[in-house]
Amino acid sequence: MRFAVLGSGSGGNATVIEAGGVRVLVDAGLSAKQICLRLKAVGIAPESLDAILLTHEHGDHVRGLRVLMKALRTPVYATASTSHVVREGLDGIRWKIFESGGRFAIGGLEVESFAVPHDAVEPVGYVFRAAERSFGLVSDTGHITEMMLRRLRGVESLFVEANYDDALLEADLKRPWSTKQRISSKHGHLSNAQVAEFVGGLVADGLKRVVLGHLSRDCNTPETAISALAACGLPVCCAGQDEPCGWHEEMPACGIEFAADELFGGLPAA
Ligand SMILES: [Zn+2]
Ligand SMILES: [Zn+2]
Repeated sequence: MRFAVLGSGSGGNATVIEAGGVRVLVDAGLSAKQICLRLKAVGIAPESLDAILLTHEHGDHVRGLRVLMKALRTPVYATASTSHVVREGLDGIRWKIFESGGRFAIGGLEVESFAVPHDAVEPVGYVFRAAERSFGLVSDTGHITEMMLRRLRGVESLFVEANYDDALLEADLKRPWSTKQRISSKHGHLSNAQVAEFVGGLVADGLKRVVLGHLSRDCNTPETAISALAACGLPVCCAGQDEPCGWHEEMPACGIEFAADELFGGLPAA
């Protein structure tokens, strides 16, 4: 099992996973052109994708889908409510609908979904398993629920958003109070401190590496986010917005990637 974050941030999110004989893309929030270019950069032909899975309908997670699906016949997996919102203006997609919390298989890849608290219609995170390897993916979420913790216990690798640093968000002058409230609400995004507590709770269950994503350009830095996780003692790196990070395989984590994104930069409800 291996995975590569093609880009992460409010400018667009997409991650490719290769395991169990299949290749799946989670979210298509970069432009279709960038998704294809970045897939090729990590050695994946876009037409070889077996599935596209969506976490939720926000633009930074689905923006490239319409153009991408003009070229690909890849089935798109989503919860019913997410697909209803996304399917407007999209014809000809082969939708595969699953229930939030449901499990299914794509070839030899087992997929387990779980609900996450975020201001979208039916947002989910995923755990992927194949050949005794496992990878948890938690994108936009306002807090960590007990159920999420239960689902993620025992995962070997984790992608999790680390959107903002409390002090940097507090000090930010660009965002109105209402936006800050939304970001830090229970249905907004995770802070570094929340991620540190979350990751700390998974270490004893076998978590071995962490990739952070969706960093705010103004309200976080890779150094701040990584140092917040120092106590967990795991290899931690940050995925950037502007270029794909390399493959994360069983061992060890890649170097630190910079180029964090701009929070909500020009996109509605990131
Ligand atoms: Zn997002
Ligand atoms: Zn979102």
